[in-house]
Amino acid sequence: MNVAIIGAGIAGLTAARELRERGAQVTVFEKSRGLGGRLATKRLHWGHVDIGAQYFTARDERFKAQVDRWMAQGFVARWEFTPHAIDARKGLVRPKDSSIRYVGTPSMNSLAHALADKVEVRFNSRIQSLTQSSEGWRVEISDGEPVDDCYDWVVLSLPAEQSQSLLADTPIGHKIPQDIHQACWALALATCGEVAPEIQGIFGDELVSWVSRLSARPQRNISKPYDDLWMLHFAGEWSDTKGKHLPDNFTQLGLEWLSATLNKPLKLAYAYPHYWRYARVKPDKVKPVVIADKTKGLAAIGDWSAGGRVEGAYLSALDFVDYFFD
Ligand SMILES: Cc1cc2nc3c(=O)[nH]c(=O)nc-3n(C[C@H](O)[C@H](O)[C@H](O)COP(=O)(O)OP(=O)(O)OC[C@H]3O[C@@H](n4cnc5c(N)ncnc54)[C@H](O)[C@@H]3O)c2cc1C
Repeated sequence: MNVAIIGAGIAGLTAARELRERGAQVTVFEKSRGLGGRLATKRLHWGHVDIGAQYFTARDERFKAQVDRWMAQGFVARWEFTPHAIDARKGLVRPKDSSIRYVGTPSMNSLAHALADKVEVRFNSRIQSLTQSSEGWRVEISDGEPVDDCYDWVVLSLPAEQSQSLLADTPIGHKIPQDIHQACWALALATCGEVAPEIQGIFGDELVSWVSRLSARPQRNISKPYDDLWMLHFAGEWSDTKGKHLPDNFTQLGLEWLSATLNKPLKLAYAYPHYWRYARVKPDKVKPVVIADKTKGLAAIGDWSAGGRVEGAYLSALDFVDYFFD
């Protein structure tokens, strides 16, 4: 069986691994130059910065077992800290918290690298159309080399909105939910100024919803001309309103917010902004579903179809493969 998987995020790579283990010939097509999708790590000259998911949790027993294996292999570590939160009257507080948080080591995309072992991935390959003939599915890469192979199955592992545009004329196109993701403006800041070591992550407010102190996470020791590396994730509603054009004075806005939140004037060393059009599934749109057509050999998976988040992406692939290939 010949399978094309579109997207080299956690869902696509998990599906690739599982199908390979069942004897399928698998090719993954990825539009970018690297693995991991929303577990992206940006290599800047002043540091390696996780710009997407900052950590993940594990609730399902199947995912917990996978996380244990990754930990044993050194791809994942626990991020042991208690997040702070903002209290309007008291400032930074530390509410009780029992979540176990994990990070990829040395960076978030290590999970993707672990999954991609022995998987054929074609990078810089944005799929722009799918067509089916009596020989199977053909995929077309925009501005790329023609793909000669035909596939028995095509599995899309993209945010639902992006899958919908490729599947519009297929029998499963109408089943893909729309308008379910929120955007996120992300801002990496390298700063000078001493900050208390116990502040490692902050649940923010309606402007900045989450802050990671990247330089405090496992295996992220820095030896640079700055004291700390932070990642600010701006809130979904705010980011949706701003859209993809860099908000005015964005770096200054983030720096002032961080300094005010920490009650400490910080000096800027470096900054890097990134816009995620489809970042996280809106909480009220999380609806587990398997969308596939076995007779056509067509499926759409991804975090949005199994509860959102990194865990959902992994489980969406497992559910699909277990259902159709066991
Ligand atoms: C800012 C941010 C914060 C987050 N915080 C958390 C968190 O704290 N905890 C948590 O668990 N999760 C978090 N998430 C969500 C988590 O990152 C995602 O749920 C998960 O990584 C999604 O994996 P996926 O494989 O479903 O999709 P993706 O990772 O989006 O993978 C899809 C892949 O398809 C590729 N692609 C798209 N279109 C095409 C095309 N036409 N042709 C070829 N390739 C294509 C993309 O480049 C991408 O690599 C966050 C995400 C973001 C962006």
